[in-house]
Amino acid sequence: MKEENNNNTIKPGNFIKEIIEKDLETGKYGGRVFTRFPPEPNGYLHIGHAKSICLNFGLANEYKGKCNLRFDDTNPTKEEQEYVDSIKADIKWLGFDWEDREFYASDYFDQLYEYAVILIKKGKAYVDSCSSDEIKEMRGVPTKPGVESPFRNRTVEENLDLFEKMKSGNFKDGEHVLRAKIDMSSPNMNMRDPIIYRIRHASHHRTGDRWCIYPMYDWAHGQSDSIERITHSICTLEFENHRPLYDWFIENIGIYSPQQIEFARLNLNYTIMSKRKLLKLVQDGYVDGWDDPRMPTLSAYRRRGYTPESIRNFAESVGVAKRDNVIDVSLLEYSIRDDLNKKAQRVMAVLRPIKVVITNYPDEQVEELDAVNNPEDESMGRRKVPFSKILFIERDDFQEIPHKKFFRLSPGSEVRLRYAYIIKCEEVIKDSSSGEIIELKCTYDPDTRSGSGTSTKKVKGTIHWVSARHAVTAEVRLYDRLFNHPDPGGDKETDFIEHINPDSLETLKGCKLEPFLSAANPGDRFQFERLGYFCVDTKYSKPGSLVFNRTVTLKDTWAKIEKAKQ
Ligand code: ATP
Ligand code: MG
Repeated sequence: MKEENNNNTIKPGNFIKEIIEKDLETGKYGGRVFTRFPPEPNGYLHIGHAKSICLNFGLANEYKGKCNLRFDDTNPTKEEQEYVDSIKADIKWLGFDWEDREFYASDYFDQLYEYAVILIKKGKAYVDSCSSDEIKEMRGVPTKPGVESPFRNRTVEENLDLFEKMKSGNFKDGEHVLRAKIDMSSPNMNMRDPIIYRIRHASHHRTGDRWCIYPMYDWAHGQSDSIERITHSICTLEFENHRPLYDWFIENIGIYSPQQIEFARLNLNYTIMSKRKLLKLVQDGYVDGWDDPRMPTLSAYRRRGYTPESIRNFAESVGVAKRDNVIDVSLLEYSIRDDLNKKAQRVMAVLRPIKVVITNYPDEQVEELDAVNNPEDESMGRRKVPFSKILFIERDDFQEIPHKKFFRLSPGSEVRLRYAYIIKCEEVIKDSSSGEIIELKCTYDPDTRSGSGTSTKKVKGTIHWVSARHAVTAEVRLYDRLFNHPDPGGDKETDFIEHINPDSLETLKGCKLEPFLSAANPGDRFQFERLGYFCVDTKYSKPGSLVFNRTVTLKDTWAKIEKAKQ
């Protein structure tokens, strides 16, 4: 049964599944379930596309059908091979397979041309020689009928001849267009004699200079679905009032008719998904490329350390909505935390180090201490962590004058070092000129070794640490949300650029990591204990000079900020 929750989503058996199941029952498409994911190769895929990919490929998998990858490449000026390649890589990474069904709307240019000729011959399409401004003017407004073009009643022969000449390159851009002859007074603006072909002397990324007329998206989309014999053509809500037009095309050409089903696009707060705006962020250098880990693109999430499972789980958990809504981005962050909690190797890393010297520890001694790789998963085993006289701890884990509830290190107090001993701070060494704390002299209690010590002493705090002489030095990039406004640029008055979070990237150099990490490879993911989840950057990290990206913090730090604002 359908059950709506507060987000207007229908869970978990979404309404599209209900339609498909009914169609399977009635044998509407002979038991076939054929979907497609139709990206336009004019940008990188983002998290909204992931929703659509999971839905289309997911439904095909679930009902033993097929899902095609079809590039909607009808606009030669905005589309590039780079985007085609990135889209394919992203879909594969997400875990879906289109097998040998990689299609392009441009594969159908000949067929689409023939379909247009059919309409012309039926007297249902005409060549209009008005300028684009005139055509726009004559279209009218939804409440007022449009005006018919003076070229609307050209004869079939004249239309065929002109259309042929448009194709042959006899005319300049904009001189003529081909329009469907439908209804200039329809309340649905899409039905007011839409343009289906325009002249564009531009090279196409696949067909080169073979064509100088290109089909409009609306002309290509439904017919491409028909050619591929798609059963359920799933698209976002803004195409709802294009459906009558698509149906009109299919009916008047007289070809196989897929069923279009609309759902609400995924919107996330604090996130922008317009490809135009994402391109601006890239082109104007606000971010370091489409895969900058702060971007909402799949290549960025991958670089940042998100797993494909976390994105698929997220897509599933938001459900399929029939009305527009906005999902809290913390749900996506929860999803990656949840997945990495189960999978990520725990390690110790000190991001802002301060030196600790254990004065009563033998100078040359090294102990290999036993550490768990993941308390959530025993099968991940254990590892050894070296302990020695000089260590690093987080600067934040020491307070010279501790506030009331501070249970970590302070002068005269004791704290446990994770997997190791209880230490006590005996002396604070400061730089004589700047006054900055540069070293802490501590003593350790040899009877308190984790797991084997005989002491029953208990302390309230446990902190992480790294042995100085064994440490690996690395750069760590702390990412935060790219925008500090829930609806960037949403009030129309404000440019979304003004809502960029100035603190969305903090780069820390000289971070100290336990030696286990010296063998880390690009893309490897870890939990730095107490700090968050991190992964080795695939773009800038090199053996010997490691760069880590923070994937996500351990807790939702924004929830606190938002609560404080209320
Ligand atoms: P454009 O403005 O360039 O058309 P687009 O986001 O629609 O942008 P497409 O490449 O046409 O980009 O999208 C491919 C598919 O992904 C389409 O079927 C579209 O409906 C779907 N899609 C795009 N954005 C979202 C989103 N936010 N939520 C769900 N599906 C989406
Ligand atoms: Mg689109």
